Amino acid sequence: MSIAENIARIRSEMTAAALAAGRDPKEILLCAATKMNDADAVREAIRAGVDLCGENKVQELTQKLAENAYEGAPIHFIGHLQTNKVKQVVGKVDLIQSVDSERLLAAIQKEAAKQGIVQNILLEINIGEEESKSGFSAESVFSTLENMAQYPNVFVKGLMAIPPIRQKDGDNRKFFQKMYALSVDITAKKYDNVVVDIMSMGMSDDYTEAIACGSTMIRVGTAIFGPRNYTGNHHH
Ligand SMILES: *Cc1c(COP(=O)(O)O)cnc(C)c1O
Repeated sequence: MSIAENIARIRSEMTAAALAAGRDPKEILLCAATKMNDADAVREAIRAGVDLCGENKVQELTQKLAENAYEGAPIHFIGHLQTNKVKQVVGKVDLIQSVDSERLLAAIQKEAAKQGIVQNILLEINIGEEESKSGFSAESVFSTLENMAQYPNVFVKGLMAIPPIRQKDGDNRKFFQKMYALSVDITAKKYDNVVVDIMSMGMSDDYTEAIACGSTMIRVGTAIFGPRNYTGNHHH
């Protein structure tokens, strides 16, 4: 299957899942998770109609920007971002999806202020409460939201989550539902610099379930590009 054929299949499944949930398919964007795929693969995905690209590693982002891989498509940062690398990401991407601590938020504020811009972000929620994952808990995120007036150069456009690795179909539905409930709570409370428009959830194995639960952006890697080669690759 080519990248274009994979994207066509994903698009039709996205549409079916949206319609089954009584939603407008146009509400849901397809983000190509491009990690470990080269500039040519990224260009092929963009030409085949993904809405945007998500990059995980600062080094890959920097390299692909230099190669003009994204051809003007929107770029999101979706991986763990270290505070000492914010300079290489702030102002270079349309959205940082993976803001997982208030410390990182403060570092982004400082850099965005220096550049004289407002950086759009999502807050990453550790919805499965896993030790191995970073992110805000569904409880702790509220104290950070209350502090948002301290970060005038950052705007929160929504939430992102990576649920636990699932055992079978349907396992992650409860996490997606919890995310949706959290978005409703946040919207009801009205915080400075916060409008929850984007719910980034759902990956190759579970995007139809995520769409059923209110996702507005799915991040898909394997189902577009095929399995990633984790051995002998120069990115590793
Ligand atoms: C790799 C990655 C994805 C895509 O994962 P697949 O299972 O390959 O679709 C989505 N989100 C993030 C943050 C990722 O790192």
